[in-house]
Amino acid sequence: MDTKHHWSGVLDSAADAVGHTPLINLRRLAQTWGIKCNILAKVEFFSAGGSIKDRIALRMITHAERSGLLIPGYSVIIEPTSGNTGIGLALLAGLKGYRCIITLPAKMSKEKEAVLRSLGAEVVRTPTEAGWDDETSHIQIAKRLAKEIPGGIILDQYNNIQNPLAHYYSTFGEIQQAIHPQKIHALIAGAGTGGTITGLSRALRDSERDRWPLSEEEAEREVRKVVSEFDKEKDLLMDSERGSGSGSEGEGEVVERSLDAQDVQSSHDQTINGNSYGRHESSPKADEGEVGLMNKLGRGEGIVVGVDPLGSILGGGEVGQYVIEGIGYDFFPEVLDPSSKCIDKWIKTTDEEAYEMVRTVMRTESLLIGGSSGSALAGLFKFLTQTCAGKELAQTEGKNVVVILPDGIRNYISKSWFLDPVLGAPPSDLGQSIEKVLGRK
Ligand code: PMP
Repeated sequence: MDTKHHWSGVLDSAADAVGHTPLINLRRLAQTWGIKCNILAKVEFFSAGGSIKDRIALRMITHAERSGLLIPGYSVIIEPTSGNTGIGLALLAGLKGYRCIITLPAKMSKEKEAVLRSLGAEVVRTPTEAGWDDETSHIQIAKRLAKEIPGGIILDQYNNIQNPLAHYYSTFGEIQQAIHPQKIHALIAGAGTGGTITGLSRALRDSERDRWPLSEEEAEREVRKVVSEFDKEKDLLMDSERGSGSGSEGEGEVVERSLDAQDVQSSHDQTINGNSYGRHESSPKADEGEVGLMNKLGRGEGIVVGVDPLGSILGGGEVGQYVIEGIGYDFFPEVLDPSSKCIDKWIKTTDEEAYEMVRTVMRTESLLIGGSSGSALAGLFKFLTQTCAGKELAQTEGKNVVVILPDGIRNYISKSWFLDPVLGAPPSDLGQSIEKVLGRK
């Protein structure tokens, strides 16, 4: 901090503009949907780097500095990422005097690469089709670079406990402050690494027991415990299911795809796993069922809903391809707790549902949200219209449903799913008037 001045409203750098995002009441959307509860959207593209991942970049860097792992002027931050974590890291690396190398699969948007390079990061594109253990994958390339380049270090969002803790403290703290003394009746978010939903769910549960925020040591212990408890729960489930056939929740759902192969994101391609990179087993059944959710509502407890794209296994179903970036995987990252203790209900969404929601929100709320925000809203819509608990919430004034909108359209401007409907939009009557005034017909 600058000690020479005593400005109250002046930030010291862009690092201080990480987080502090608005919670916006989507009244117009609620009206369009015909619902009475408040849809409170945490709009993360307002953060300095343009996404929810800025928060974890800041916390992972700060903690690595404290523990002496990062040395300004010497360390080189290297991270395999699908983009947003890389942008957060590059933004802070630029301010703090670290060099930064981001390994990025070829399919990730040009916009993300342009932003990374603008922030001074080196970007290494890797083949989209390379599996995580292929020596040309973004994971293996990052590992090789970290080994060979003096000062190279991978902060590793998939295993770093500071990822969920960033949301436990900062994201949840802001939501809590914004709506206090009112309550959160439901919380909806997608999962990539799972840091967002795991941290927020833990904080919500703790706040309901008047024990939020735990001290850093306690919170770290608790989150680690939750993750290892999930491992035990998962082993039991796998034992009991062995031999009984493996029905999949996502079965039978067919998604039409009409986009360029370049646009299509395979959850296999995105896999970041290996020795320390995550778990591969199928998901336990996380749903408590309708009765359980209604009981929770009755007890005044918040319901946590995870949104997962069709083609990801985090919320159940088979591995497949999908376009939306940043959410879903074909393995379980260590920092995700997908058990029913953390997530009360998983809802699957398709790419098309997400695109549609992005367009609707741009027109109704003038919010320039990205693809996974569309998924989160599509999941929210299904929750509010297709489940008993959701319907009850939807029809009750004063209930607060919080939804996380992780990034903005800046990252996807050139993507065909966004571009086509914009350029192909039918001319409005204003367009005709303009043509007339300009004499162009
Ligand atoms: N949406 C986008 C656009 C993202 O980049 C990410 C991060 N992978 C997420 C959602 C999910 O966040 P988390 O990793 O905390 O689950």
